[in-house]
Amino acid sequence: MTPTDRLNIITEDAMCIGCGLCQSVTGRDVVRVEIVETGYERPVVHGALDHATVDRLMELCPGTHVEGLPERERTPATKTDLIWGDYLTMTLAHAADPEVRHRGATGGVLTALGMYLIDTGEVDFILQAKASSRVPTFGDAALSHSSAEVLEAAGSRYGPTAPLVEVMAQLDKGRPFAFVGKPCDIAALRNLARVDERVDRLVKYMLTPVCGGFMPPQGMARFLRDELHIDPDQVTGFRYRGYGCPGLTRVEMADGTVHERRYTDFWGTDESMWMLPFRCKVCPDGIGEAADIAASDTWPGGSPDPRTEDDDPGTNAMVIRSARGADLVDRAIAAGYLTLTGPVDPRYMDSVQPHQRAKKLAVGSRHAGLRDAGKTVPRTERLRLDALTEALGPEEAARQRAGTRERVRIGKATEPTPKV
Ligand SMILES: Cc1cc2nc3c(=O)[nH]c(=O)nc-3n(C[C@H](O)[C@H](O)[C@H](O)COP(=O)(O)OP(=O)(O)OC[C@H]3O[C@@H](n4cnc5c(N)ncnc54)[C@H](O)[C@@H]3O)c2cc1C
Repeated sequence: MTPTDRLNIITEDAMCIGCGLCQSVTGRDVVRVEIVETGYERPVVHGALDHATVDRLMELCPGTHVEGLPERERTPATKTDLIWGDYLTMTLAHAADPEVRHRGATGGVLTALGMYLIDTGEVDFILQAKASSRVPTFGDAALSHSSAEVLEAAGSRYGPTAPLVEVMAQLDKGRPFAFVGKPCDIAALRNLARVDERVDRLVKYMLTPVCGGFMPPQGMARFLRDELHIDPDQVTGFRYRGYGCPGLTRVEMADGTVHERRYTDFWGTDESMWMLPFRCKVCPDGIGEAADIAASDTWPGGSPDPRTEDDDPGTNAMVIRSARGADLVDRAIAAGYLTLTGPVDPRYMDSVQPHQRAKKLAVGSRHAGLRDAGKTVPRTERLRLDALTEALGPEEAARQRAGTRERVRIGKATEPTPKV
């Protein structure tokens, strides 16, 4: 098998999440993350790739390797919950500034923390994601050097987003920065930290939204055509949420018209209606176990109530995992950037994230199903998959395993060889 064939398997087995790290590591002359026929961004090999580089990418890629919180970030006070992993505290919070709270996806805590880090000069910039200037429904990597730029990037991008596509160039600068990305992006950066000491030296904080996955390009096309009856090629701007919690999904068109729908119109009213990339259905860590802080929504039952979703100012739950995360939160409160509204615990998190709890319990069995079918399975460490499978119980574990085998059989876990 050639090195290119080996790399392509990650995409062909639907394990690529499109984070962009492979391009950054090899350089875009060798591997380029591009839009392929499925509409996703996938690594396409353009130059000479050798087996040693592919070996390294297999270690770095969050489609093949995902770990929990690094051992060195644990303290004697660290607690471990079977579902929610390592943490120091869990708390409800929102940005203290009403404008930041309003524009943020939920309560704006990730934006408020980023603004604090920039305003104090603790970091030079935030590497994060913002609305894409190339494809309006996508996210693009963004470097925010001012708190106004951090605020500009607020909101969740539920489309393909590759925040790590130039991370090596950011590390080359030798300047301190913070990273905000999805749990899979954080996993990739933690993988990189094991082979590149600059990550731990320069990336002062890793912050993440708790993540259930994003809308596949196919689902987006369906939403635009069947729900809004518009031509996807005429879309010039797409805001998924923010400006309230969750705020309206807003689509801007080339002719100046604007279409708005509720979050629940976009996603549906419960989890069974969500369309997701296959990798997200077998994600071993949607809850940001390796981040310093993970921030989530707090809707009872996991979805906003369509009757009240227009009036919610937004409150996050924060899972504070590392001592550096806890210290950052304390300082951001003291400086007036963040407001805490009360402690919560893992069982509260279960109640507002039932889909995360269900996936966490099922993921080990889903991986077993992938293994049965001879597919790529992400190697995991410190994510408790065996204990979670045991807690799921043998009957449900067998059902999940068989269900995954069946999904593989009908082609859900297969993507075409990436090419443009
Ligand atoms: C794909 C996706 C799935 C999610 N699924 C869940 C879920 O299942 N349960 C839940 O409780 N919450 C989920 N969220 C998180 C939720 O939408 C909020 O992002 C979270 O509560 C933080 O809110 P906030 O107000 O602090 O965010 P903000 O202050 O608005 O900050 C959001 C930050 O996330 C970054 N960002 C946005 N989109 C992306 C992206 N695609 N890739 C990388 N970085 C990005 C932005 O740059 C910004 O820094 C998801 C978010 C995303 C992006």
